[in-house]
Amino acid sequence: MEATVQVLTCARCETDITGQRDGKSKRAGLCARCGRAERLSTYFKRYYQRNKEKILEKNRRWARENKERVAELRRIRLSKQPKKPKEPKFCIDCGTVVQRALRCRKCYVRNKYHTDAEYRRKRLITTKRWAQKKREEARLHKMIDSAETTAQPVAR
Ligand SMILES: [Zn+2]
Ligand SMILES: [Zn+2]
Repeated sequence: MEATVQVLTCARCETDITGQRDGKSKRAGLCARCGRAERLSTYFKRYYQRNKEKILEKNRRWARENKERVAELRRIRLSKQPKKPKEPKFCIDCGTVVQRALRCRKCYVRNKYHTDAEYRRKRLITTKRWAQKKREEARLHKMIDSAETTAQPVAR
């Protein structure tokens, strides 16, 4: 009678591990390579869990000290992302196409004027100043005009 040999394969990559040394990997049902990778991954996960705060603090410090590099990496990451077709955005009040904001410039000002008392106060001061300036300009023009009309051409 022939003895049937049971074929063992790695649970991850399906390598034949029948003849593999009976070590940690084989007992876990993995080939030597997958077993080592699995143990390393477990080790790093545990290491990360135990030192999470220290690692995060170190990363944050590095980011603070290497702002330009961080920005560069972010640009690279963004440029690698497939670009989503940009959906047009519209002002929530009047429907004008806007870039990012909720409202177009005009509606933003109008809305702020109605909801922000401090802004309204400042705008009123600016408007008053502007009107004052216009009045002064008008008066000046009038003076110049009348000066010109009353001045007689000098006879040669
Ligand atoms: Zn394997
Ligand atoms: Zn608008």
